[in-house]
Amino acid sequence: MGSLRFRIIFYLLLFGLVSNLILSGVFVSSQYDRTLNSRVNSLTSYGQMLANSVASTGYLNDPTGSEAQLINTQISLIADIYDGRVVVVDRNCKIIEDSYNFEEGKTIIADRVIRGLRGESSTQVNETTHSAEIVIPVTGAAGSSEVYAVLIMSFNVEDIFTLSETTQNQSRLLVTIFALVMIIAAILISRHLTRPFRKIQSSIKSLADGYLQENVNTNGYTELIEVQEAINTMLRRLKVQEESRQQFVSDVSHELKTPITSIKVLSDSLLAQEDAPAEMYREFLMDISQEIDRESQIISDLLTLVRADRNTEELKIADTNINELIEQNLRRVRPIAEQRHIDLVYESFRDVRAQVDETKLSLAITSLIENAIKYNQDDGWVHVSLNADHQYFYLKVEDNGVGIPEEEQEHIFERFYRVDKARSRETGGTGLGLSITRSVIMMHKGNLKVYSRPGEGSTFTMRIPLYYRKSGGGRDE
Ligand code: ADP
Repeated sequence: MGSLRFRIIFYLLLFGLVSNLILSGVFVSSQYDRTLNSRVNSLTSYGQMLANSVASTGYLNDPTGSEAQLINTQISLIADIYDGRVVVVDRNCKIIEDSYNFEEGKTIIADRVIRGLRGESSTQVNETTHSAEIVIPVTGAAGSSEVYAVLIMSFNVEDIFTLSETTQNQSRLLVTIFALVMIIAAILISRHLTRPFRKIQSSIKSLADGYLQENVNTNGYTELIEVQEAINTMLRRLKVQEESRQQFVSDVSHELKTPITSIKVLSDSLLAQEDAPAEMYREFLMDISQEIDRESQIISDLLTLVRADRNTEELKIADTNINELIEQNLRRVRPIAEQRHIDLVYESFRDVRAQVDETKLSLAITSLIENAIKYNQDDGWVHVSLNADHQYFYLKVEDNGVGIPEEEQEHIFERFYRVDKARSRETGGTGLGLSITRSVIMMHKGNLKVYSRPGEGSTFTMRIPLYYRKSGGGRDE
């Protein structure tokens, strides 16, 4: 009952059949009325003509005279042609002429005759006997109210009734045929009209069954095309997500396998050597321990990334002093910078307070500063600066390190992506730092830009809104 198809069929049938029934009903009954009226009208004019003749001749005085004979012939003629009976009754209610010829001389006292004698003409149609009776008073000269006689004409109108019944039957047959055609047409039309919906429905079903590669295509209505576009966009996004998920799983497995492979090689080679010296054990075990550290670093970065990737519901937003937050982070990384004689300078242009998740944003800031130190040269410098306007705060981390080639710049935010694998490994990098940073910044509706020239250095600029909004906001650029 609730289906669109059922409704289309229902309304088509309702309008089609109801209008058809009404039209055919009106047509049949008006045809019957028109034919009957025209018959009664022509009989009335004949009757009037006869009444005039009766009045203007000596018919009533001399019913056997030649003029009267002529009128009687006309009376019989009309009665014959129209399958009826014409009776002339005089002032005393005596029948002086009967086209059936068997009641002449009798007296007839009937309501209609009395009324006729009072000058009232009348027409009566009897629907059960299918007959019409016309009473016409025979009066004197025009305008005179004196009635000399009454003309009673009764006619059979069975033929008109039969004709109307035939027309009615034909029209019923036509309505039935039309109804059948209409039902078939309604089924076909509704089928055709709902086809795009069925297509979209089956596409969505196959999507629900897990066939992500299918593209929804209805070739349907403008309104549906919008739905289709929305589904396809969602589908494309799902496909990208699915691909990236698969890629991530494969990358994770690969990354986790590398230290394990090294550990296996190191321990196997130790086992293969009989009576290996204690120093060798120590050396190999140190390498093994390093690989274990690396494995645990990857796992801990992965956990951080997964946590950062979870929905923004988990953000613990609080009004935070950003200057202090940066200083805390700088204190944490300063020892690493000092080890390599890297000059770490912080410049703040104003006091900034913003609504952020302090722990998560710390991850992002540390990661940027650590990278600036890691991918730097000894005796290099790192310049961190903070500024703000009425909407955002800007954190710039500049270094004069190795820089990033132009073609690599768009990839560095991808998980596990490292420009120089060996260097990253040396510095304990997992290739996840910038992915975590980007995730955190996106959760804060901010963006992160990189500007870099190989051999000259890199500049990372993070822009974060001062006031946190749950929806909308910028994108990572
Ligand atoms: P990693 O753990 O390897 O540092 P990241 O995701 O933090 O991973 O960085 C990805 C890659 O981007 C790094 O391997 C490095 O090649 C490059 N990179 C990041 N920051 C800098 C920088 N300040 N200068 C030069 N290269 C950088």
